Amino acid sequence: MNPPTTATPRAPINVTCPSCGERTVFGPTNPYRPFCSARCQGHDFGAWASENYRVAANGGAEPSEETPE
Ligand SMILES: [Zn+2]
Repeated sequence: MNPPTTATPRAPINVTCPSCGERTVFGPTNPYRPFCSARCQGHDFGAWASENYRVAANGGAEPSEETPE
């Protein structure tokens, strides 16, 4: 008699924030997805902007030679 409950149209998708590792909701209710907050989103973007990831992806060299001042 009861309809099958296999399909849940409004099931929230939980993901791990790539910045702080906290569990957060990946959906329309979270404008900062896949991050948990604007702070985490900005933090990760800052790392990209400072080319930390770029250097790491280049072979793991230490960013000690290129210090723009
Ligand atoms: Zn976070």
